[in-house]
Amino acid sequence: MARAAAVAQLLHTGFCERLDASLAQLALVSVWIVFFAWAFLPQKLLLVLTFPLLLAGLVVVGADLLFGVDLIELVTVWHTFHLGEVIAAVQPYVWTIAVAIFAIAALAALLWSPPDSPTRPAVRIGLVIFGLLLAIALPSASWRGAWPVALAGAVVEGSLGNAGIELPDRPNVRASPRNRFDNWQAKRESPPLTPETYVFVIGESVRADRLPACGGRPQITAAPREAIVFCDVISGSSSTHTSVPLLVSRDLPGHNERVPHDATFLKAFEAAGFETFWFGVQERSIAWPDARNQVYESVPQLDRTALLPLLDQALAKPSQRKIIVLHAYNVHAPYRERYKPENAPFAVDPAKATGGVPERASIDQWWNDYDNAVDETMRLLEDVTARLQSQTGAAVVMFTPDHAENLLDDARGLRFHALKMPTIWDTSVPGVIWANATWRDANPEKWKTLEANRVAPLMHMDFVPTLLGAANVRYRETRSQPVDLTAGPVPPRTRFTQVRAGETVNVDQLRAQAECNRPGTTKIPGC
Ligand SMILES: [Zn+2]
Repeated sequence: MARAAAVAQLLHTGFCERLDASLAQLALVSVWIVFFAWAFLPQKLLLVLTFPLLLAGLVVVGADLLFGVDLIELVTVWHTFHLGEVIAAVQPYVWTIAVAIFAIAALAALLWSPPDSPTRPAVRIGLVIFGLLLAIALPSASWRGAWPVALAGAVVEGSLGNAGIELPDRPNVRASPRNRFDNWQAKRESPPLTPETYVFVIGESVRADRLPACGGRPQITAAPREAIVFCDVISGSSSTHTSVPLLVSRDLPGHNERVPHDATFLKAFEAAGFETFWFGVQERSIAWPDARNQVYESVPQLDRTALLPLLDQALAKPSQRKIIVLHAYNVHAPYRERYKPENAPFAVDPAKATGGVPERASIDQWWNDYDNAVDETMRLLEDVTARLQSQTGAAVVMFTPDHAENLLDDARGLRFHALKMPTIWDTSVPGVIWANATWRDANPEKWKTLEANRVAPLMHMDFVPTLLGAANVRYRETRSQPVDLTAGPVPPRTRFTQVRAGETVNVDQLRAQAECNRPGTTKIPGC
C-alpha cells in the first residue's frame, strides 16, 4: 500500500510539477514521441501501450466537464489513505461511471482489430530527422519532462521506493518545484529584544458564516478572547491544492503553475532571523513549504491530537524567534471524522448524515455535523492561543482556511468544494488574528489599524503581508493588490479568485451567480 501511495504521489508530481522546460517544448517533444511510436511500433502494440492512459485521460476530463469532479485531487486524497472522502465524492456517480466504462470498453472492442499497415519509409525517415533536430535544438529537460518519459520516470522511481513523500528534511529537496535560491529580499530594522512567536494556522473548508462572530450558531466555540475576526474574506481558490500554495507565495490567483516557483513567506521570516516550522496533517506536496523544520502526520486523527504536541516541541526549542505554520484538516468531509461526538455541541443522527452526500431532506443533520467540526476548529485555535499566552515575549496567531464549502446553498444544489467553478459559498472564508498583551503593548498603532480593518472586504493574499507587517519584516512585494492590514485601510479594489490556471472570477460575478440561483424563485430579472 505504501508503494502504491508512493507511485500515486509521483504520478501526480510527474504530471503537475516537473516543468523545467517550457510548456511549448514539452508539447513539441511529446507530440514527436507519439508520432514516432505510431510510425515504428506495430499498431496493436501501440494500442495496448496507449489505451489505458487514453482511458484514464478521458475519465479525468469527462469527470471534470460533466460533473465538475477533480479526479486528480481525489487521487491525492486517496494516496494519503482518506478513502472515506473518495468514496463520499464518487458515490453519487457510481452508475454513470459504470455506464461510461461499459461504453468505452465496447468502443475498445470495436477498435481492437486494426489491420497492421506499415508506415511509409519517407514518413519514418522524416520523423527521425525531425527528432534529431529537436534533440539538438531543445534542452535535455524538455525530453525528460515530455510525456510519457516523465510518467515512466515517475513509475520507476516510485517502484524503487524513491518516493516524494518521506523526503529528507532539507531545503533543496529534489521534488519541490520551488526555487531554493529564491528569497523575498526581507529585512527589518531594530528587532525587539524580547522573544517572538508567530503562528499561522492554515485551516480547511471552514465557511465564514458558521463562526459565531460572523452569524453562526452561538453554541459553537467562539474565537479566542480579544481576537479580531474577519468575516468577509475571499479565498485564492476553492481547491486545497491551489489555494494553499497561493496563500504562502507571492503569486496571484489565475497564475499558471499549481505550485509557484517563488519561495514561501517562511524565507522572509528566516532572513529576519526566525527559525521556521511547518507542521501538517496534510501532505507536504500540497504547498512544498521551505521551512527548516517540517513534520507531516499521515495517521488520521484529530487536528489537536496531531498538531498540538508538535507545537509544544517547537515552542520548547531555545531559539528566540519562531514562525510556526500549522496546516490542519478542520472541516474537510467526512465531517464526523474531525471531532469527538461526546464533546460536540450538536447531536447528529448517524442514520441521516453518515455515508452518502448531503440531501435536502437531511440537510439539518449535515449542518450539525459540519458545525461540530467548526467547533473543533475553534477549540484548536483556543488551545493554540492558550499555549502562546503562557509564553514570554510577543506572540501573534493568525488563522484562515484554504477555502470554504458548498452545502446545498442555492438552486444549483452544489456540495463540498474544488468543483469546476468556484462559488461564493466555497470561497467565503473567515480570518482570525490574535496577539498577546506584549505584542499589543509594543504595537498599539498596528493593533488599532487591524481593528479598523475588521469589516473590510479582504482577500487571502492580505494575510501573509499582514503577518510580515505584524513582525515589522519588510520584503520585496511583486504584487499591487495585497494590503498589510496592520499598516493602513483597505482601498477599493476588485476581489477575485482562481477558476483554473490562467482564469479568475471576481466576487461580484460569484454573487450574481448565487443570486440567479436563489432557491424558490422561477425567473430572476437579469439572469
Ligand atoms: Zn481544502
